[in-house]
Amino acid sequence: MTTPTPTPGIHHVTCIAGDPQRNMDFWVETLGLRLVKRSINQDDPSTYHFFFADAEGTPGTSMTFFPWGDLPQGKVGSGQVSRTAFRVPEGSLDYWEARFDQYGVDYDARVERFGDEARSVSENASGDEPRAETVLPFRDPDGLPVELVEVEIPDDDPTVPWTEFVPDEYAIRGFHSVTLWVADPEPTKDLLRTMGLEEIGTEQAQGDTPGDERTRFAASGSVGRYVDVLPTIQGGRQGHGTVHHVAFQTPTDEDQESMRAAVQSEGLRPTAQIDRHWFRSVYFREFGGVLFELATSDPGYASDEPLDDLGGRLVLPGSFESRREEIEAELPDVTIPRAEPVEADD
Ligand code: ZN
Repeated sequence: MTTPTPTPGIHHVTCIAGDPQRNMDFWVETLGLRLVKRSINQDDPSTYHFFFADAEGTPGTSMTFFPWGDLPQGKVGSGQVSRTAFRVPEGSLDYWEARFDQYGVDYDARVERFGDEARSVSENASGDEPRAETVLPFRDPDGLPVELVEVEIPDDDPTVPWTEFVPDEYAIRGFHSVTLWVADPEPTKDLLRTMGLEEIGTEQAQGDTPGDERTRFAASGSVGRYVDVLPTIQGGRQGHGTVHHVAFQTPTDEDQESMRAAVQSEGLRPTAQIDRHWFRSVYFREFGGVLFELATSDPGYASDEPLDDLGGRLVLPGSFESRREEIEAELPDVTIPRAEPVEADD
């Protein structure tokens, strides 16, 4: 088997929400992400698909939602992405706690991870090791578990903060990590190694986590580069407030095909490549039951709307455009939150 090009990290995370307006208000206004695409679920065009990201929809920044009003409340458990974590600049968690108080967000006390008690895996090739970090856990209005993690943002960071609601010194800067809950971690860990991630450390799980050991894997990129694996037998159920799938970056078709072949040779059953309009995708369920996707970097969210106008119109990919009137009539109205214009002093 040829070794696939290692994935640089997470591309996007897709979740299930309830009410579309409540979802939009929280992710755009409260958290300050940019609505970079307003579209439909290509398998169910009576449901929206919202994409919230940084200012340019950089790979590794987009959190996407299907607001499926008819589904029941879900339960986070084994075989799911249990936590999705975002990067925020060092020293910004005081701002976020104050903002969460102002907006009535349900958050927990901060957690320290990978501090003195952590064990690093010293023999890994990159010499990378987990750094002590401070985490602010909270839930979105559907109960989806989310975390903010303080990191040092380098000057040449690939993400571009969106500052309509949150100033750039505090703004979310793409994904930090996802945490996978699986009944048997070993096959999942082997798959992550196949995908080019490297085990960099372990620690005793703490806080709102069921397993006894958190194992951290690192990818080669700078955004969305961590995947944590925790063992749990706690059963889950897909529904509001749960993650549907996590997509990893395979920047080119060649990268994607080599990764697809590697995953298949591990005994998994990846789909053929599917055109998702803003990227091309392959899907497979990993050994622990989590739905994984591989997504290309191109053509990207700015391929069908000017950068300045991202999210401004309902985008209907391919043949859906010819059914626009019928599709729009089925969708509930939503208003995109806009910051108040700043009053001139004169
Ligand atoms: Zn996806």
